[in-house]
Amino acid sequence: MAQEDVFKRLVSHCKEYGFVFPSSEIYDGLGAVYDYGQYGVELKNNIKKYWWDSMVLLNENVVGLDSAIFMHPTIWKASGHVDAFNDPLIDNKDSKKRYRADVLIEDYLGKIEEKINKEVEKAAKRFGEAFDEAQFRSTNARVLEHQAKWDEVHARYSKAMNESDFEDLRQLILDCEIVCPISGTRNWTEVRQFNLMFSTEMGSTSDGAMKVYLRPETAQGIFVNFLNVQKTGRMKIPFGIAQIGKAFRNEIVARQFIFRMREFEQMEMQFFVRPGEELEWFKKWKATRLKWHKALGLGEEKYRYHDHEKLAHYANAATDIEFEMPFGFKEVEGIHSRTDFDLSSHEKFSGKKIQYFDPELNKSYTPYVIETSIGVDRMFLSVMAGSYDEEKLENGETRVVLKLPAALAPIKLAVLPLVKKDGLPEKAREIVDMLKFDFKCQYDEKDSIGKRYRRQDAIGTPYCITVDHQTLQDQCVTIRFRDTMEQERVSIESLQGIIAEKVSMKTLFKKLSE
Ligand code: ATP
Repeated sequence: MAQEDVFKRLVSHCKEYGFVFPSSEIYDGLGAVYDYGQYGVELKNNIKKYWWDSMVLLNENVVGLDSAIFMHPTIWKASGHVDAFNDPLIDNKDSKKRYRADVLIEDYLGKIEEKINKEVEKAAKRFGEAFDEAQFRSTNARVLEHQAKWDEVHARYSKAMNESDFEDLRQLILDCEIVCPISGTRNWTEVRQFNLMFSTEMGSTSDGAMKVYLRPETAQGIFVNFLNVQKTGRMKIPFGIAQIGKAFRNEIVARQFIFRMREFEQMEMQFFVRPGEELEWFKKWKATRLKWHKALGLGEEKYRYHDHEKLAHYANAATDIEFEMPFGFKEVEGIHSRTDFDLSSHEKFSGKKIQYFDPELNKSYTPYVIETSIGVDRMFLSVMAGSYDEEKLENGETRVVLKLPAALAPIKLAVLPLVKKDGLPEKAREIVDMLKFDFKCQYDEKDSIGKRYRRQDAIGTPYCITVDHQTLQDQCVTIRFRDTMEQERVSIESLQGIIAEKVSMKTLFKKLSE
């Protein structure tokens, strides 16, 4: 199946099974805003718990914080968001559609890369074992031609972006003959800067009201509380502060479902270190975070790093962890070495000293920061995309199954009486009552057992427990495993142990500590 179709099916599956709904749907929705349904919220909470505990439970020197969405507006001056949190936008006059100029050019560059890769693939097939890719790339005429084009466009693009030269950015779009995918024309407007922050007013009278922003990232709440946490928690450097919370960005082009939203959630951790030690810590967190992703078992090959060549002026290293979504490898998490930019800037703008006295070195300094920043919603999408499967069964039927990591699954087990009589429902309820304190259970007695299994497969429930007449005599049930569909007869007594081993987050945390 084409990847585009897989993605469409995934989106409709999310809706049909109560994971994600478009916001305000009965009013025809609101662009790039989504609600999480009954199973979505459980999955999302489990993702957040996996992240939170991996930070504050497994690291003695990482503590949590929950700062407000509204913050003093000067914070966004200090952070650079008022002046520089902009996207260059361009409109097509015929379709009236708005695009990010940088994205149009990056897509164009991506197409050239695709062409090169196709040439390489073709040649690899032709030459077989003897194929020398590096040599081919450096000598093949067609590849060299594409590469030269790529280099030229990329150089111009980087220069225009770095120098905020929007005229040339537009000219580049024209020179590359990039057309609007809707109208097919090259009738473009000027490129304009567009600030991504939402603003509103705080206070009751119009002249006394203060313009405030909805935070576009959670990180600044951590920076401005650095001293509060460090002093009250008697924290010694190196230490980290972790936070989960909503962030808002007025994205120009909101596409790809919950990949790019206007209201979303972030999980960020700022790790404060001694100046000079930041690159060592950057390396460490980079490896730790990838391990966290891979421990879920969605497939090692689905992840890759994308190291940034072009760094923001305050960063001295940055990388993304990308996941292979149905629409290609995309950023899920960013890891940045942000130097002392934020703390110094807040010191300057607030006029308050923000320094740390290091008793070992016997001196004060502004700590450097490594940040790990991941979007809950993008993580949710990667987990769903990595778990969604349409399996052809031996009997010719297709089974839609979400092979969610058991620890993240919204429902851990379903208890199903084979029939709705003869005391089986009562026995099934007894089992639910016994297990409900440990696991999120579901009781289901409607429809045939086969249909009930399918329903649980579709929401990713790792275990189905079937109660039959025999159960009343031997206190045993059938446990069915979601991924293999194998069934086993086990005692009711043993259920807790069997299930706990697989669904507990402890199993994941142990992998992280290995
Ligand atoms: P992009 O380049 O895709 O716009 P970004 O580099 O601006 O992302 P960061 O500012 O580094 O993103 O934010 C950290 C994380 O927050 C991202 O890795 C992503 O998971 C998440 N995130 C950022 N913007 C959005 C959004 N509009 N919708 C959902 N998640 C987002």
